[in-house]
Amino acid sequence: MLVSLIIPCYNEEEVLPILYDALCGVRESIKDSGKEFEFIFVSDGSRDKTEEIIKGFAANDPGIRYVFFSRNFGKEAAMYAGMKKSKGDYVAILDADMQDPPSLIPSMIADLDSGDYDVVAARRVTRQGEPPIRSFFARCFYKLINKMIDVEIADGARDFRLMRRQVVDAILSLSERQRFSKGIFAWVGFRTKWVEHENVERAAGETKWSFWKLFRYAIDGIVAFTTAPLRLATYAGFFFAIAGFIYLIYYFIKAIIGRIWDIVAGYPSLLCFILFIGGLVLMALGIIGEYLGRTYIETKARPIYIPMEESEDD
Ligand code: UDP
Ligand code: MG
Repeated sequence: MLVSLIIPCYNEEEVLPILYDALCGVRESIKDSGKEFEFIFVSDGSRDKTEEIIKGFAANDPGIRYVFFSRNFGKEAAMYAGMKKSKGDYVAILDADMQDPPSLIPSMIADLDSGDYDVVAARRVTRQGEPPIRSFFARCFYKLINKMIDVEIADGARDFRLMRRQVVDAILSLSERQRFSKGIFAWVGFRTKWVEHENVERAAGETKWSFWKLFRYAIDGIVAFTTAPLRLATYAGFFFAIAGFIYLIYYFIKAIIGRIWDIVAGYPSLLCFILFIGGLVLMALGIIGEYLGRTYIETKARPIYIPMEESEDD
C-alpha cells in the first residue's frame, strides 16, 4: 500500500534537511507494516536553494517525486499539484517547516487502517508563539465564516491531514481556480477524525504570511464559500427605503399642519445621510465586484499552476 506525502515548499532551504530526516525516520519506523511511501515535493517558485536540495534528495532516494512551478502560485496551488501528482492510497499534506509534526503520521495511518475514518485531520489547540492580534483576528474570522457558510470550518484546523484516495479524488473534482482548501476539505465531507496538537513553531526560516496576505485569504475564503455578503446590500437597501419612507411621511404631515421650520437647518443631517448612503452604495458595489471579479477569473479557466520541471517518472 502506497502512502503519498505532499510537501509544499516555498523558499524552505533551511528546514528541508530537517524535514527530510524526520520523514525518513517515519518511513523507517513503519517499514514493517507493508506501507511504502512517496514524498512529493512541490516547489512553489522558490528562489533559494530549495529546488537544488530537493533534487539532491531525489538523486539518492527513488521514493521522491517533485514538481517545480514556473513562479509562486501560492500554497493552495502547491497542494493541488501535489494531490494531482499523488498515486498513493493514502495521501497526506504537510508543511515543510515542521509545524505539522511528521511524528503524528504513523498514528494517522493507523486511524485510516482501522476503517472508521476517511480523513484524519490535525488541529492545533493552542496558538502559542503567535502574535496575539493575529490569533484574535483568526478567531473572529472562524466565528464569522461559520455563521455564513453551510459547512463548519474548525478553528485551528490546519491543512495537515491524511486522506483516502476517494477523498483526494473528490477534492480534485472541484476544479475552481481560486481554491480555499480549508473550505473545500469541509465541503467534501467524509468521516473525519480530528487529532489535536499544540502549536509548534517553525523549525527555521520565516512564515510566508503577512497580516495583509492573511486578511486577503480570509476574504477569499468567505467569498469562495458563500454569497451571504451580497445579501447585505439587499438588507441595507430595504432598511433605508423604509426609513426614507417614514421620514417622508413625517415631513408630509408636518407640511400639512404647516409647521416646517427646519428646512434650511437640515443641511448637516442631509450631508450625513448622503455620505452614509453613498458609503453603503460603494460598499455594496465593492462586494458585487468581488464576486464578479471571481466569476471573471473562473471563466478564463487558466490552469491552477504551471509546472516548469518534474521528476522523471512522470
Ligand atoms: N508555502 C507555499 N507557497 C506560498 C507560501 C507558503 O508553498 O506561497 C508553503 C510553505 O513552504 C510551507 C507551508 O506552505 O511549507 C506553510 O507556510 P508557512 O509556514 O509560511 O505558513 P504558516 O505556517 O506561518 O501559516
Ligand atoms: Mg508554518
